[in-house]
Amino acid sequence: MPNQPGRSGVFTVVDTSATNIGRRAFLGIAGAGAAGAAVLAAKHTGGAAAGRLVAASRSTVTGADWAALARDLHGHLVRPGDSSYTVDKRLFDPRFDGLRPAGIAYCGNPQDVATCVNFARKYGVPLAARSGGHSYAGWSSTSGLIVDVTRMNSVHVSGTTATVGTGTRLIDLYNGLAAHGRAVPGGSCPTVGVAGLTLGGGIGVVSRAHGLTCDSLESVQIVTADGSILNANANKHSDLYWACRGGGGGNFGVATQFTFRTFATSDIVLFFLSWPWSRAAEVIKAWQSWAPHAPDALWSNLHLAAAPGGSTPVLQVGGTYLGSVTGAHNQLEKLYAAAGSGPSSYFLESTNYLHAMLVEAGCSSIGVQACHLPWQVPGGRLSRQPQYAKSDFFTKPLSNAGIATLLRNIQNLRKVRGANGGVGGIAFDALGGAVNRVSPAATAFVHRNALFGAQYTTDWTAGAAAGRVANQHAWLRSFWNAMRPYASGQAYQNYIDPDLTGWRQAYYGANYARLAQIKASYDPHRLFSFPQAI
Ligand SMILES: Cc1cc2nc3c(=O)[nH]c(=O)nc-3n(C[C@H](O)[C@H](O)[C@H](O)COP(=O)(O)OP(=O)(O)OC[C@H]3O[C@@H](n4cnc5c(N)ncnc54)[C@H](O)[C@@H]3O)c2cc1C
Repeated sequence: MPNQPGRSGVFTVVDTSATNIGRRAFLGIAGAGAAGAAVLAAKHTGGAAAGRLVAASRSTVTGADWAALARDLHGHLVRPGDSSYTVDKRLFDPRFDGLRPAGIAYCGNPQDVATCVNFARKYGVPLAARSGGHSYAGWSSTSGLIVDVTRMNSVHVSGTTATVGTGTRLIDLYNGLAAHGRAVPGGSCPTVGVAGLTLGGGIGVVSRAHGLTCDSLESVQIVTADGSILNANANKHSDLYWACRGGGGGNFGVATQFTFRTFATSDIVLFFLSWPWSRAAEVIKAWQSWAPHAPDALWSNLHLAAAPGGSTPVLQVGGTYLGSVTGAHNQLEKLYAAAGSGPSSYFLESTNYLHAMLVEAGCSSIGVQACHLPWQVPGGRLSRQPQYAKSDFFTKPLSNAGIATLLRNIQNLRKVRGANGGVGGIAFDALGGAVNRVSPAATAFVHRNALFGAQYTTDWTAGAAAGRVANQHAWLRSFWNAMRPYASGQAYQNYIDPDLTGWRQAYYGANYARLAQIKASYDPHRLFSFPQAI
């Protein structure tokens, strides 16, 4: 298998001698190695916010009977001072390593979750549910109790239905389902938790054919604020079931089990194509009139990336095709014709579904077991990387002025005094197809009319100078601001963005009012709370 990029996000494999190249490496192509002293970045992380949270809740946290909680759990409780605390409190992004929860409960079953919920309610201890820990805002941590569901990570298949513990990480979900020749549509990042992904929507490489992850959700077991363990589906607690399909993680209770409709897998075509930056305007114009209107079997995304102090930015189109290699070529020829040129570099292969998910994860050469963080499973070889992100949905193609703005802002990053290992860019994901055939009110996921979504990201090496990181953050904000005239104003609730004003409308649109009613009914005292909670 030749070296190839994936789409997983910000992973690096710890062993750089591995033949695998993740998306991170693709983004780094543009980098000329930005300077930046490696000093502690904690001040710039969630540290300050964490301090405020701890101060606000110290009295309730210290007065609670933690020993009783530890005794009552089938799983186990980790407290400050325990040898594993430093690792157990980590989220995916090292920016949040300064957060200091008063306890982390590894729940062994739904009853443990109910015990935690009752404890938090009784003592007024703040709580946050945690699955994969990938919240962009660090909102699966808290000064109080983290209710961790990762011990509940089983995948059982019966016929076309899968019952999945909500602590299952995506690579384990794909692996568990692959043994039965089945899959659920989902994202690319191998260590994202199925809970956060599903509750906020779930966009992935087969979404145009099979919909969002939440569109495959048939029922959810969830522990609500009064400690009840409820099963919500189309017939029972149907309002809660509706809210759990796009209403966002952390809002309505702690989900413990999902039942998904699955689809049968067959070989899938993967492609990664690059064009010279000089062709960028033509390729963007062509991609946006091609990708959202292609047959459902074709999904693609468009990446533009640059680096502070780096050379020419890079442009890549990647994607999947559920069909033959010839069929994929036929579709791609349409893109080349619209762009007026074929790609300057090209990778295409047909492979089995699980291998495709490993490629997308950037793990094709290391396999499923190593496709985890080192403390998650023995032999895990991925590492973490800090990142800022913002998002948009676009309901109209970008005009010429919009494309010029996009290109100018990507190029601007080269002039930024950025951090060690800094990169940044934008990834557009094609929508349409099965995603848009669902009515905006049928589930809580309202974004059913977009041609494509976009994620703006900038990342750097952990420990980079805070001032340099701040420069990259400023670049990201300025880029996103410049795109206001062209974007729809909607944003993806799973790319949760603490800087976003008007988030209620941006994440939930016309569905917000119903979500607020459901919140009032199942969590009237707002036990489940965070800065952008419904
Ligand atoms: C590197 C990277 C790649 C990504 N790739 C994709 C992608 O391809 N497609 C996509 O759609 N999204 C993607 N995302 C976004 C991802 O879907 C969200 O960040 C999602 O919320 C992460 O879920 P989690 O369980 O890992 O995170 P967590 O941080 O554990 O949880 C996220 C939120 O959900 C809550 N929550 C966690 N567990 C539960 C539970 N059991 N019950 C109720 N609430 C819970 C948390 O309290 C928090 O508010 C990516 C994110 C990152 C960082």
